[in-house]
Amino acid sequence: MPEQRKFRAIKGTRDILPPDSALWDWFEKTARSVMESYNFGEIRTPIFEETELFARSIGVETDVVNKEMYTFADHGHWGLELIRNQIGYGRMPHGEEAVRLFRMQAQTLVDRWRELTSAGEMPETPENSQAIKRIDVGLIGVSSPIPPAGPGVSALNASALSIMHSARSLKFGDVVTLRPEATASVVRAYIEHGLQMRPGDQKLYYIGPMFRRERPQKGRYRQFYQIGAEVLGTSDAPAIDAELIEMLTVLLERCQIEKYTLLINSIGCPDTPERKGCRPKYVELLRAKLREPEIFSKLGADSQRRVETNPLRVMDSKVPEEQAIIEKLPKISELLCADCREHYEKLKKELTLREVPFTESPRLVRGLDYYMRTTFEITSPILGAQNALCGGGRYDGLVEMLGGPKGIKGIGFALGEDRFIDAIQEAKKIHATRTVDVFIAWMGEQAYPTAVRLAHVLRGEKHTVELPPEEMKFRKALERADKMGARYVLIIGDDEIASDMLSIKRLADGKQEKISEEALVDYFRGAR
Ligand code: AMP
Repeated sequence: MPEQRKFRAIKGTRDILPPDSALWDWFEKTARSVMESYNFGEIRTPIFEETELFARSIGVETDVVNKEMYTFADHGHWGLELIRNQIGYGRMPHGEEAVRLFRMQAQTLVDRWRELTSAGEMPETPENSQAIKRIDVGLIGVSSPIPPAGPGVSALNASALSIMHSARSLKFGDVVTLRPEATASVVRAYIEHGLQMRPGDQKLYYIGPMFRRERPQKGRYRQFYQIGAEVLGTSDAPAIDAELIEMLTVLLERCQIEKYTLLINSIGCPDTPERKGCRPKYVELLRAKLREPEIFSKLGADSQRRVETNPLRVMDSKVPEEQAIIEKLPKISELLCADCREHYEKLKKELTLREVPFTESPRLVRGLDYYMRTTFEITSPILGAQNALCGGGRYDGLVEMLGGPKGIKGIGFALGEDRFIDAIQEAKKIHATRTVDVFIAWMGEQAYPTAVRLAHVLRGEKHTVELPPEEMKFRKALERADKMGARYVLIIGDDEIASDMLSIKRLADGKQEKISEEALVDYFRGAR
């Protein structure tokens, strides 16, 4: 008998079930309709990409890339990889039996590898070919019989070590990662399909799951859902930034989330071959300040590390003891270059024109490397510790950095769908449910064909219809319809068939009436 065990969703992931899924559905439809009203079109990209894409764009100094990515080798040879791991990461073989097993496994690895590469199922890179050759040579050195103690044993050990080392270096497939965010994928797709050739700015939105191996807690999951939008094109007009932010506030309004704060900032520009940017100058100043012993000694371990790796992130710190020190640090707004300052001033004017209230937050730097100039975040006090609903910013250099055409600029945001749903539920204004319009209570074999036919007709009219697959007693059927929250019960029994009239019961008040089949469709049209 196979072992009986229960399976559970993996830590940090969860199932979204009816009736809760109705609110998710409502939210996604609402978001689509808002974004489409601003002329954004949907882009669907794969949920996994080359690891390198994320490492390059998000930056290796970020937590996301450093410790939160779900990364794996993309191949279908796990049995062989298991043997490789036993050889490569197992113990050094000692004694006749262990050496025999080791040799057998190494031989299997080489033989299967050759089979698979000649069938084109394994990457035939120079590194892999070298490693297989070294294992081949090593195999000669571990052939039986086992030599007596002395130089023979050392030679055997050296051969075994070389096999182990070479086995470890074999690469079975490309290294891929489940996307931790989607901007990198959108930019990759933009470049791959030459979207710069299409007229005007490309305004794209996406909806889907993202994956980060964070510590799970309320509002923070390892598989979570984001809705995001990106604008890619040659212009960096502040009106683009403002329109994107305005669009978000319209979505918040539709969701009737009133308690939120929009924080904005400009984080300056990076160096380009033509000129020095204001952000690197600021980062250097900040680093110098943070290195001062009286400041450095008051920082926690994370911030101390970031002084060297990514000092901007210190500004982002939520550690209570660090807040007083951070408040006194120089602010980037004081060091913006003339162009960045002008861009930021225009953004604020644009937001005011659109009647979008905002709060300036000189500490808002955003975690990912590719941002520049405009950054923004929307937080909600009703969410608790994980209060960020949405974040975004400008990333003008990213397209070029990922090998795309020069001069293409970009801005985007991503909102956390899980948190939006929490906020909608907290605000208690939207009640999305799915209702059954008509429950068909059929009784008797004669009634069944009519029930099937009418279910089809009503579903064609876009009504939600429940047709019980097996006959139910009338009382039971009524009870079931009531529990489902059905609005009407259509009763088809012997009497109805004999009289050619149907009975309809409205569950809200129990009112029942007779109706002909011809009048049915109109009846429900009116009842909508
Ligand atoms: P980011 O890509 O980190 O700027 O995140 C954008 C938005 O996604 C945040 O403001 C959150 O609302 C949401 N988010 C980020 N990480 C998670 C997570 N682990 N679980 C749930 N939502 C998240």
